[in-house]
Amino acid sequence: MASSSSSNVKKMNGRQASPVVQTPVPDFTTWDYAPAPEATDHFKIAPRWELFIGGKWVAPKSGLYFDTINPATEQKLAEVAEANEADVDAAVRAAEKAYEKYWRKMPPKERGKYVYRISRIIQERARELAVLESMDGGKPIKESRDVDVPLAAAHFFYYAGWADKLDYAFPGGRKAQPIGICGQVIPWNFPLLMAAWKLAPALATGNVCVLKPAETTPLTALRLAQIIEEADLPPGVVNIITGAGKTGAALVSHPKVGKVAFTGSTEVGKRIQKACAGTGKRLTLELGGKAANIVFADAPIDQAIEGIVNGIYFNQGHVCCAGSRLLVEEAVHDLVVRKLTHRIRTLRVGDPLDKNTDVGAINSKEQLQKIRMLVDSGVEEGATLTQSPCALPGRGFFFAPSFFTNVAQSHRIANEEIFGPVLAIQTFRTPDEAVEKANNTMYGLSAGVWTDKGSKIFKVSQRLRAGVVWANTYNKFDPTSPFGGYKESGFGREGGRHGLGAYLEAV
Ligand code: NAP
Ligand code: MG
Repeated sequence: MASSSSSNVKKMNGRQASPVVQTPVPDFTTWDYAPAPEATDHFKIAPRWELFIGGKWVAPKSGLYFDTINPATEQKLAEVAEANEADVDAAVRAAEKAYEKYWRKMPPKERGKYVYRISRIIQERARELAVLESMDGGKPIKESRDVDVPLAAAHFFYYAGWADKLDYAFPGGRKAQPIGICGQVIPWNFPLLMAAWKLAPALATGNVCVLKPAETTPLTALRLAQIIEEADLPPGVVNIITGAGKTGAALVSHPKVGKVAFTGSTEVGKRIQKACAGTGKRLTLELGGKAANIVFADAPIDQAIEGIVNGIYFNQGHVCCAGSRLLVEEAVHDLVVRKLTHRIRTLRVGDPLDKNTDVGAINSKEQLQKIRMLVDSGVEEGATLTQSPCALPGRGFFFAPSFFTNVAQSHRIANEEIFGPVLAIQTFRTPDEAVEKANNTMYGLSAGVWTDKGSKIFKVSQRLRAGVVWANTYNKFDPTSPFGGYKESGFGREGGRHGLGAYLEAV
């Protein structure tokens, strides 16, 4: 048996079948080079970006533009068009035309080819996209290079495969058809990746899109529009419009939009839910979080420390599913705090374009102020603050990796989403208490469980009201896994087979 399986040759009816060729699986997870310094020195960003509507780059009707800056230097990178209601209407009409003229009629197999092509061009432009993402948003280059960009490509790749297999996506061969025009609004923490999460399933299922990136990080979505142009998608199938909250509000309330997909804050999510109420629009909301990362005394502690660090300091803590509440079993609290105090001193904070940087720039001045305000509230309310003594750059928006001990459940830092590199540590004595504390939040997006006991993982994770539960790891993403929340973290799932359902109507 062993020899026949290892020889890669199957015997059929005494005849020898042709060898099974092992097709290399594309590896989206590693990238064997970092941008050389000269690559960023000579990196040119177009000084002005228009709106991508109907396959053309058009000036905003208002003639207004806003600046996007590099949060690590506070320098202007480019100016970007501000779409008003009339521009939103033009984008939606361009999408409608594209739906009727091309996309609705296109055989699914052909549609899939376009989506594959987007994936491939993202891979080809990976280096440039990673640099652009880090410059516009402040995240460390090693994260945009190894996480954001490869995962964005992987999302298009994964959903391209579904385009001609939708008849097999749902139990009982239930038939489904596209909804039509999707209005998609995304946040600033994973700009390119969130664009991929929205566009890839929508396109693969036969919908057309109007997407609005966040005001502080529009550049990779605009670069993606150029990639979509290069992939030769029929004009109007994807429209990218830039602007602030008002632009997003005009998009989600446009009467011709049949499906709204929003990722962002719970506050804005609620406003969008109200705007969509009674309209018959389909809606999915991916909102905020305050995830519990639960460490039991029997966990491999050094591994757990790395998981805690990754859970809260990855992307400066600008992560909806960040492990921002550490629940640690009382017996190992002091050990964990001692190790964590040492570990955060080793995190390198600074230039996002330095490939050794662990913690980059806070995305905006406003976000930095919010983090400072909540950290001040923690100190005022009596929690104990520990911060890395690292030197922070003189310019740009930076915040030292921090954590709080002596945190009471009533403290704001234990309840509110800080969305920064700040962890709140609480203790528990029994698994029941851990579950109760973990679920004691208005959010329900994610959680982590660290233990040596497999049975404990199952028992605890089944009782957690969280859309994603990681066991002995944290912040791992894959296009095949559904992602989404309970309670005020929103509803609907993105990713995997579940993510198709949001863009299809049963017939
Ligand atoms: P945000 O203020 O809610 O903004 C998100 C997007 O909505 C931006 O493009 C924003 O435009 C736009 N917007 C603002 N007001 C709007 C309105 N009234 N109608 C329609 N669109 C509107 O959130 P953020 O500060 O960018 O992002 C951080 C939040 O996103 C955090 O709470 C985080 O937890 C959440 N998040 C959730 C997930 C998830 O999957 N659950 C993933 C990532 C982030 P402007 O930027 O121009 O204001
Ligand atoms: Mg910016």
